[in-house]
This record gives sequence, C-alpha cells and structure tokens, in this order.
Amino acid sequence: MKPFEGQIALVTGASRGIGAATAEALAAQGAHVVLTARDVKALEAIEQRIFEAGGSATLAPVDLKETDGLTRLAGAIAERWGQLDILVHSAAVLPQATAVVDLDQKALSEAFNVNALASHALLYSFDRLLRRSPDARVLLLTSPVARHAAAYWAGYAATKAAQEMLFECYALEVRNVSKVRVALVNPGAVRTAMRAKAFPGEDPQSVPPPEAVAERLAALLGEQFASPYREDVNLAS
Ligand code: NAP
Repeated sequence: MKPFEGQIALVTGASRGIGAATAEALAAQGAHVVLTARDVKALEAIEQRIFEAGGSATLAPVDLKETDGLTRLAGAIAERWGQLDILVHSAAVLPQATAVVDLDQKALSEAFNVNALASHALLYSFDRLLRRSPDARVLLLTSPVARHAAAYWAGYAATKAAQEMLFECYALEVRNVSKVRVALVNPGAVRTAMRAKAFPGEDPQSVPPPEAVAERLAALLGEQFASPYREDVNLAS
C-alpha cells in the first residue's frame, strides 16, 4: 500500500518547477493528482510522465487570475471525488526586481492577483472539500523574503507576505474545528525558471533540482505535523 493511495491531491503550478516535481512525487506514492497551471502542453507532458510511472492524474488548466476557473474546478472535484485530501500551492510569479519607486503598477497588480488574491480564491473555493477529508493537508511554497525585507525585492516580497498571512490565518481558523492542517515551506534555492529569472548569472547546476525538494515535500505531507507548521528546506548543505 502506497502512503497516499486513495487520496486526491490538487497541485497548482504543476506545469513546471517545484509544482511539477511535487505532483510526480505524490502520484508515485499513490495519490490521484489534479494538475493545474495555464500551459496545457506542459501539463500534458507531466501527466504523461505520471502515467508512464504507473500513477494517475487529471488535467485541469486554470489561469489563477480568473477566479471563476477555480470555482468550476472545485465543483468538478466535488462532483467526482467529494473531497480534497491534499492541496499544494506552488504557482507564483516573480515580478522584475526593482526599487519600490520604480515598480511597474501593472506588473505589481498581476503579482498581487496571482500570488495573493488567487491564494484567497483557492482557500475560499477548496475549504469545503478539504473539511470533508479525514486528514486534509495544505502546503504553501513560500520564501524568506515574505518575512525579511530585501532591497529591490518588494514586488515579490509584498505579494508573498500577503499570501503567507492568508494561509497562516486560515490555519489558525480551521485547526480546532476541522482536520485541515497547513504547512508553509520555504524550499530554499531550487533549479527552476523562477530561480533563473531571479539569479540570471548563477550556474543552475549549483542549486538542487526540483525533484530533491519534492521528495521532502511528499515526505512532509505524510507526517503528523502540527498546524500551522513552518519549515526551511535546506538541500544545499
Ligand atoms: P516556476 O518554475 O516559475 O513555476 C511557477 C508555476 O506557476 C508554473 O507552473 C506556472 O505555470 C504557474 N503559474 C504562474 N502564473 C500562473 C497563473 N496566472 N495561473 C496559473 N498558474 C500560474 O516557479 P518555482 O521555482 O517552481 O516556484 C514554485 C514556488 O516556490 C513559488 O511559490 C515560489 O515563490 C516558491 N519558491 C521558489 C524558490 C526557487 O528557488 N525556485 C525559492 C523560494 C520559494 P503556467 O505558466 O503554465 O501557468
């Protein structure tokens, strides 16, 4: 019996990077994974890899900027499975690093939409289904800049801080009245498109691949962590 056999997991940002690797890791351990992001071709490739490895998955392309898509997805999951056991929220955008006074309002608004407002829409849309699970786990991928100010990182930091607050407040609200537990995990430096955009001069081979962090995330989802739980994954050492 695999650890997540019979469980339904929704993974955002499943088209690449940490989300894709985590979806594959959960599927390898028996979960049926609902893969969501915008890039349908990339999602299909991940679904194919999951099938070839003997796992099962369902494609659910959604643009997180359009909350109607999440409402429809929650309705479809409710109809088909009746509950959601695992929600991994990996999708995010990284606005261009720049001084606060030079931040482009349009880019900042998009980052707030994807990183913060969509987080609210996710929790709002899936809370009911999570509460129906006997052991629901919500895992947010976060970053140290959500808590520690850094010059030129405001666009990303402010939106990740808002995202963290939404998940942490939610964790406190549900922990005594439901079986929903929430983990906020900083994955550390991981070899992804987002990392390459943040540090274009860095040799990608000098940072760990997403599969390494995904292994830790899948293990954590199998643990009895107390909610809200925080972890800094440090694979570099
Ligand atoms: P990534 O490779 O850039 O992947 C981001 C994912 O978000 C993609 O699957 C993308 O899919 C999805 N996404 C972006 N905009 C979207 C939208 N409007 N609607 C739906 N999906 C959208 O990033 P990553 O490095 O794997 O990062 C994953 C998480 O880890 C993020 O929350 C990030 O803040 C956090 N993190 C990463 C690092 C690192 O070193 N990589 C460090 C600290 C924290 P589509 O383009 O197909 O929509």
